[in-house]
Amino acid sequence: MAVEAESQPSGALAPQASSATEMRGGARVTEGDGPPGAMPDVRDLSLPALRGLMGEMGEPAYRADQVWSFLYARGHVRFEEMHTLTKALRATLAARFRISALPVLEVTRARDGTEKFLFGLEDGRAVEAVLIPDGRRLTLCVSSQVGCAYACRFCLTGFRGFARNLQPSEIVGQYLVAAAHAGEGARITNMVFMGQGEPLANLDNVITAIDILTEPTGLSVSPRRITVSTVGLLPQMRELLARTKVELAVSLHATTEATRTDLVPSNRRYGLHALLATCRELPIAKRSRITYEYTMLAGVNDSDEDRRRLAKLLRGTRCTINLIPFNPFPGGEFRSSPIDRIERFAEALRSDGYAVMIRRTRGADVFAACGMLGRTQPEINS
Ligand code: SF4
Repeated sequence: MAVEAESQPSGALAPQASSATEMRGGARVTEGDGPPGAMPDVRDLSLPALRGLMGEMGEPAYRADQVWSFLYARGHVRFEEMHTLTKALRATLAARFRISALPVLEVTRARDGTEKFLFGLEDGRAVEAVLIPDGRRLTLCVSSQVGCAYACRFCLTGFRGFARNLQPSEIVGQYLVAAAHAGEGARITNMVFMGQGEPLANLDNVITAIDILTEPTGLSVSPRRITVSTVGLLPQMRELLARTKVELAVSLHATTEATRTDLVPSNRRYGLHALLATCRELPIAKRSRITYEYTMLAGVNDSDEDRRRLAKLLRGTRCTINLIPFNPFPGGEFRSSPIDRIERFAEALRSDGYAVMIRRTRGADVFAACGMLGRTQPEINS
């Protein structure tokens, strides 16, 4: 997708790739952000876009449903195996599109059972996803960009800068590989866009990926089981909720404009108070609530005064507060608040009437925990 200029934080690295969005079959289709020179991938198309394409090719719409079923219900990866299509259509599709597979370079298993996948992309870059087992839940954390331009100071991914947006097929591919890896009896119960990248800076591609994942005749992931996390890009937050039914998580991390600007540079453009005012107006479904993420940094945002301000800022909102112990990384400048401090912070917020969770750190020994993605494999192994 075209990353809108206004969605890039000042001072952050600008995206290198360009893209073009066009309407196809009533759906927005984005091309051009993927690996340079690659043939378009049929898995970048939503079902409405595929139907539109069939119409343009003079084929009946049901052909799109047949292709869709081969791709996502039966898992076929070659057009020539789609035996219910005519031979001519198979040949035309094969001449115009490829069907991608996302090669797994490495799966690293942490002591707590968390698994980190390192995927190789066609342009030689790599991206990560993390599969987190937790009782009956199996959560997949996917990346939406290679790197990130938002430069949050407590995040290794942001520390490393931005390379490019991921295409829908590269996002859905993470799910397909992880689901196959999980095995027959296991099912991914939850999916979070909290890996590398700011999902809403790659909005069209992320929405197309969500459309593909949630299509009932294919992978059929419930949108209520998908959470998209953002630093708070206000127009894109509104658009995401207008075009999908997913859950929203907002990275807050501070209770004053000055501290948030220091930690999350995009706060210069969309300040804390404007962000919270927008959140109050968003059309959140009755049974849903916004999750506010708050990384606990010793001596930075974890005082009693911070806790009182946080309670005041969120008063009257239907929300969950997710306190995240900071995961240190080499070159990083922060320390996590001690766990007893985090627990006291949580308890006081609970007595103010808030639903509060403390995120358990998962997969830190293989750099799979929150804010730790983007470390290269040789660095991990060293
Ligand atoms: S926290 Fe999210 S938005 Fe901020 S730098 Fe890291 S990946 Fe980017």
